[in-house]
Amino acid sequence: MARIMSAEKIKQPMDVKLSEKELERYNRQMLIRGWGEAGQKKLRAATVFIAGAGGLGSPVAIYLAAAGIGRIRICDNGEPELSNLNRQILHAEKDIGKNKTFSARESLCEINPHVEVVALPEKITAESVDRLAGGSDIIIDCLDNFPTRHILNRYAVDKQLPFIHAGIYGLSGQLTVIHAPATPCLYCLFPGSPPPAVFPVAGVTPGVIGVLEATEAIKYLTGIGENLKGRLLIWDGETMEFQTVAVQKDPNCPVCGS
Ligand SMILES: [Zn+2]
Repeated sequence: MARIMSAEKIKQPMDVKLSEKELERYNRQMLIRGWGEAGQKKLRAATVFIAGAGGLGSPVAIYLAAAGIGRIRICDNGEPELSNLNRQILHAEKDIGKNKTFSARESLCEINPHVEVVALPEKITAESVDRLAGGSDIIIDCLDNFPTRHILNRYAVDKQLPFIHAGIYGLSGQLTVIHAPATPCLYCLFPGSPPPAVFPVAGVTPGVIGVLEATEAIKYLTGIGENLKGRLLIWDGETMEFQTVAVQKDPNCPVCGS
């Protein structure tokens, strides 16, 4: 049974108008209870910051573009390599050597020309994060390293912005929705930063987890359902089991503790 969230923090898109073509394009999703034209206008009014245009960033950006998000800001300072193409489905072999955000923008504009895609071919640092992610309604972690995740986490906690965290490994993944001050932050859950390493990953893994991140973003922005706040979802692709565990705030957390 879907519940409707309180939507007081979601932008009220008073001046957004949907064209006939958009109404036709989004017809099937607007039939979902609680979505309708009003929910579609909220998506159209929204700005989403996607940190990373790789394995997770690909399905997140593709599904959010197809769903009719108004503005996607996608950030990555890397270039697609041949060994990325088993999972980074925004990019093709012809894109090797281009910045990932440029090939992402090309792919996304082909999927949905109604979406504004802003390519940010930059590194997220403590100094650049406000310029890159500022003004967004939600931040989505599609990264592969904890030091940058912790920069985004601190920023999201300070600004009280919703921050969807996901991580993948092999045939498994995890996901949670952080929204200060109500939920634990990423540092409460994972205070460390494992050293960078080449890790195994199947293409379907970021597919599964990225689509769940996009789902959580759409739910938050439209006000439909109940987000994974204070809960960590863990997916084991080998046994095909989903598990959800409650997570607790660390009162002594240096990021979100009082
Ligand atoms: Zn914390």
